Amino acid sequence: MSEAFTRRRFLREGSAAALGLALFPPWRIEATPTFDLVLKGGTLLDGTGGPAWPADLGIVGDTIAAVGAIAPEQSRRVLDISGLHVAPGFIDIHSHSDGGILAYPGAESRVLQGVTTEVTGNCGFSAAPLVGFDVETRRRTWREEEGVEADWSDVASYFDRLEKAGIALNQILLLGQGTLRENAIGPVDRPLSPEEMKGVLHAVEEGLDQGAFGLSTGLEYVPGSYTPTEEIVETTSLVARRGGLYASHIRNEGARLLEAINEAIEIGRRTSVRVQISHLKASGRSHWDAQAAALDLIEAARAAGVGVLADAYPYTAYSTGLSIFLPAWVREGGAEALVARLRDPELRPRIRQETMAEVLADPGNFELIVISSVLRPGNRAVVGKNLVEIAEDWKLEPIDALLRLLEEERASVGFIGHGMSAENVEMVLAHPLVMIGSDGVSMAPVGKAAEARPHPRSYGAFARVLSHYVRERRLFGLPTAVKKMTSMPADQIGLRDRGRLARGQKADLLVFEADVVADRASFAAPHQYPAGIVHVLVNGVAVVERGAHTGARPGRVLRKA
Ligand SMILES: [Zn+2]
Repeated sequence: MSEAFTRRRFLREGSAAALGLALFPPWRIEATPTFDLVLKGGTLLDGTGGPAWPADLGIVGDTIAAVGAIAPEQSRRVLDISGLHVAPGFIDIHSHSDGGILAYPGAESRVLQGVTTEVTGNCGFSAAPLVGFDVETRRRTWREEEGVEADWSDVASYFDRLEKAGIALNQILLLGQGTLRENAIGPVDRPLSPEEMKGVLHAVEEGLDQGAFGLSTGLEYVPGSYTPTEEIVETTSLVARRGGLYASHIRNEGARLLEAINEAIEIGRRTSVRVQISHLKASGRSHWDAQAAALDLIEAARAAGVGVLADAYPYTAYSTGLSIFLPAWVREGGAEALVARLRDPELRPRIRQETMAEVLADPGNFELIVISSVLRPGNRAVVGKNLVEIAEDWKLEPIDALLRLLEEERASVGFIGHGMSAENVEMVLAHPLVMIGSDGVSMAPVGKAAEARPHPRSYGAFARVLSHYVRERRLFGLPTAVKKMTSMPADQIGLRDRGRLARGQKADLLVFEADVVADRASFAAPHQYPAGIVHVLVNGVAVVERGAHTGARPGRVLRKA
C-alpha cells in the first residue's frame, strides 16, 4: 500500500468520522468531493507554538476535517494560499465588546485583524445580568454611552439578543462581579450582608447555568473597589467548582501593584480557581521598577501550583474612564452623586488635592493624559488633546480642566494614559506566562465610534504583535506569537474546540502575509485596519476575503457546557 493511498484513506475516514457519518464504500467517496473547502498550499502555524509546516486544510461545514496533502478534486471549493501563512483565528481573552458587538455586529475592528472569538464581561463589568438596582437609569446610560437599547435582563436574554442581531465573530461572556454587586445593592461602599451575598451567589450560579465562562473583577473601579477579598473568595469558590475562569483587573497597577498581584494569587491559592491577571502592567514612571517583581510573583505562584496566567496588550499606553483619578469616596453612588460632590464648594478643594496626587502617581503628569471620548457635542474639540493643552485653551490649571470635564460630562470621559515603558511592555509580552489580550472593542469608523479617538488596540493589537514585536523587535518567533493569541487563551478559558489547527477543531482561522502584516492604527489616527490579513474564516464561513469584510455574520455565542 503506497503512502499516498494510506494518507488519502486517512483523510476520507477522518472527515467522515468528524461528520458523524457511517463510512461510505471508497468508490462512492471518489465520486463526491469530501470537503466543502480546501485551503491549498499554505504554511501552517497550528497554534501550539511548534514550527510552521506546509500543509493543506480540508474543511467540512464549520469544522477542520483534515490537515495534510489534499488533492483539489476532493473539494467543492479550493482556495490557493501558496506563499501565505494560516493560523487559528485569534482568541481575544480580554475585550469589552459586550455593547460594541451590538452597535457594530460586523465587528470590523476585530475580524479585519484576525480575531474570531472575543471574551467580554471583563474588568468587573458585564452587559448581563442587568437587573435590580436602578435598572432604568442604567439602561439609559447604555443608550447614551453605547447607543444600545439594553432590553435584556439575564444572561440568556442577552445571548438571545446577540443571536438575533447576527454577529461576525464568536462571543464568550464572563460575569462582571461589579455588575452583580451593583445589581444587588448599587454602587455603595459596604460589605454585603449574608442575605445579599446569597443573592449574588445565586446570580453567579444562574449566569454559569446560562453559559457564562466565569467571573471578572474590576477592583480599581466602583463598585469593585468596595469588595473585600473574602467576598471574592466566596464567589470564586463557586466559579472554581464549576470549572470557570476568574479574570481580574487587580486593585492597583501602580504604587501597590505587587500587593494587588498577591491578592489575585491568594484568591487562586485558596479556591483553586484558574486566575487570569488582566492587562498586566506597571503604570506610572515611578512604579516601572516593580514590573520584573510582578512577573516573579506570578512565576513563583505558578510553580507552587496556582493556575495563574496574565494577558497584556502591545502598547505603552492604557485607556479607561477619567473618573478613575477621583478618590473612591467621590465615585460612590454613581454619576449623579459624583457630580453633586464635584459641585460642592466645601468638598471641591479636597477632591482637587486627592485627584492631583492620583494623576501624579499614574501616569505621572497631565501631558500624558489624552482625552479619547466625550458625550457632549460641545466638548468635542477636546478629543485628541492632552490635559495641558485643554487647560491652555480653557485658561485653567490642568487639574481644574480635568474636574471641569468630569463635571460637564457627568463623569463619562474616556482617556488614554501614556503610563508604561517600552522595555516593560516587551518584558511582559515575552514572558512565557503572558498571552495577548487587546482590551479593545468591536467598532468601525462610522457612527458613534468615529466621533471618538479611541486607543488603537481595538483595530491593531494582534497585527501589531506580528509586525512590531515579531518582525521588527524579534521579541519572539511567529509560532510563539500565534500560540499567545490562540491555544494559550483557549486553554485558559476552557475552550476545547478552538485555538488550534487540527482535525475536529472549529474552522476559525486566518490567512496572512507574514512579511506584510502590520497594524496601521495609531494614537493620532486609530480608525485604520491592518495590512496583510488576507482571509478570515469564522465557523467555516469567510468573514474576510482578500482583505475585505464579506458582510457575513457566522459568529456564535459560545456557552460553557
Ligand atoms: Zn481593566
